[in-house]
Amino acid sequence: MLVISLLFLASGASAARYPPHCVAGDPCWPADVSWARLNSTLHGRLVRSLPPAAPCHIPNYDEVACAAVKANWASASWRARQPGAYQDTAWENGDEPCYVDGPQNATCRQGLVPYYTAVVLSVEDIQAAVIFAKDNHLRTRIKGASHDFLGKSSGKGSFGIQTIHMKGITFKDSFVPTACNVPAQKAVSVAAGELFSDLYKATDARGVTIVGGGCTSVGAAGGWALGGGHSHLTPLYGLGVDNILQFSVVTADGRARVVNQCQNPDLFWALRGGGGGFAVVTSVTYKTHPAIESTNIVLVSFRATPELFTSALSKYLGFQTKAADAGFFTSSVILPSAGMVLGAYVLSNSDDSAASTNSTFDPLFQFAAEHPNQVTVTTTAMALKSQLSVVHQIVPEGMPQGTISIWGSRLFPRSAFEGDEKNQKLAKFLSTATMPDSSIVLMIMGGKVNEVAPSATAVNPSWRTMFGHIMIERKWSSDTNISDRNAIRKDLTQKTQELAQFVPDMGAYMNEADAGEPEWQKTFWGDNYPRLLAIKSKYDPSGVLTCRKCVGDDIFGS
Ligand SMILES: Cc1cc2nc3c(=O)[nH]c(=O)nc-3n(C[C@H](O)[C@H](O)[C@H](O)COP(=O)(O)OP(=O)(O)OC[C@H]3O[C@@H](n4cnc5c(N)ncnc54)[C@H](O)[C@@H]3O)c2cc1C
Repeated sequence: MLVISLLFLASGASAARYPPHCVAGDPCWPADVSWARLNSTLHGRLVRSLPPAAPCHIPNYDEVACAAVKANWASASWRARQPGAYQDTAWENGDEPCYVDGPQNATCRQGLVPYYTAVVLSVEDIQAAVIFAKDNHLRTRIKGASHDFLGKSSGKGSFGIQTIHMKGITFKDSFVPTACNVPAQKAVSVAAGELFSDLYKATDARGVTIVGGGCTSVGAAGGWALGGGHSHLTPLYGLGVDNILQFSVVTADGRARVVNQCQNPDLFWALRGGGGGFAVVTSVTYKTHPAIESTNIVLVSFRATPELFTSALSKYLGFQTKAADAGFFTSSVILPSAGMVLGAYVLSNSDDSAASTNSTFDPLFQFAAEHPNQVTVTTTAMALKSQLSVVHQIVPEGMPQGTISIWGSRLFPRSAFEGDEKNQKLAKFLSTATMPDSSIVLMIMGGKVNEVAPSATAVNPSWRTMFGHIMIERKWSSDTNISDRNAIRKDLTQKTQELAQFVPDMGAYMNEADAGEPEWQKTFWGDNYPRLLAIKSKYDPSGVLTCRKCVGDDIFGS
């Protein structure tokens, strides 16, 4: 409480200055005539947004539309295009579930889906939407590819700004940030609605590489870029934010601005890791890197009997430092109840043959040989050129969405994986940290990400000493009642806090974290939070662009 009060003072903000946002149903909610005027300004692209399963239930039942919803329910790109759909149904439903498999006569309510959504195509559209939101003090949400794990792009009774239809990928051979006197470099400008799938196709065709996300349905210029953005290329080139040269944005006052190290440098710092809520981004310009001629990938399947799983996992955790020293980025899914770890190991720019790369894995083979009939390890090695084909080995193409999966996480320093005792303790915790249907994700990156100064961008300074990123999952299904769901959420928060005990000085990656994180300001941004809050207060003094667990949520509300 004291910390929050000090932050209020630091930013010049006070609780009294920030009345709650106006939400659908409130007397202050704009009259129909005002919405009609906005719709006209947007050339008819103001949508009365509903949860995606609405056509399958009263009062909006429509047989044909419902069949289309059922056919597309698990499609990430379909979900991104729907004004009211999210990749994770937890963030469309809230306490008012509306599932496609529920009975037709179950009433489908609004849930967390914005009541109206402005489907924007241009800077002018965004300016109109932002000014309308500001004038009416609306709870505003920005929705791109709708992957956010904290549900930042939805909110009860809110007004949505959907950017997914803003397309454009432009390569520049000699890009100089506007008004800067710095050497030109190769770059690519990416519009707010582009997905990594299309960006990778374009960079592959152009013969260049970019630092981009592992899942190709994530937005290439949205939440990923604003929150940090890790990649299989992070060990070589750092985070996404370390590769951003410029943003084009609309700020909360409705002004279109160019933001880089020379113009609005404070906002440039905040946008690179501060998460959402500072401005609506219309495009991001990234450095490009030379094409990677060969990437060696090793897919590992490591299995152990239930009695041996914890020691096998301890061995696997200890092996991560060896893999990193050999230059690998690693991403592993740990499934304790199945006694299995599935890993994707990525070695960029390798001259090694697939076979010699494979020899790095000898410690795992040796462990299996020492435990015949109890531990098995298999590896599949391949050499790939296209970046799109590399990322599809890390996160399979067409991964189904429209399910529910929440996560809690922590960043880990290298020292946490050094020493048998530490690995045994962590393995013991991880072996029981999930439910039978859930998983743990372990990523190892290090390298270049540790070479950038902690103050260079707004990401949690823990990123600059991190080596591993561990995420714990919890799930529920469409027939879980609200009280059981709340218990699952509480349990995830509890387990995440237990995970935090292993690394009390580290934080979490705000894009892949627990929405119930108690000290979220410190955990997501560490010592950068007060500076971020001051910048938020400067560019958005009345809290127009708010979102759940974003900078200023504790002052402006969300
Ligand atoms: C399947 C999956 C795979 C993932 N893989 C990775 C990965 O490999 N690496 C990684 O680092 N992260 C990964 N993530 C996490 C991802 O970075 C975050 O979920 C991120 O918020 C997604 O951004 P989005 O634009 O797709 O989501 P959205 O839900 O559309 O947006 C999230 C928030 O970002 C902000 N935002 C989005 N667009 C704009 C805009 N144009 N202007 C201003 N603010 C905007 C808003 O605050 C918005 O609420 C993954 C997530 C999922 C679900």
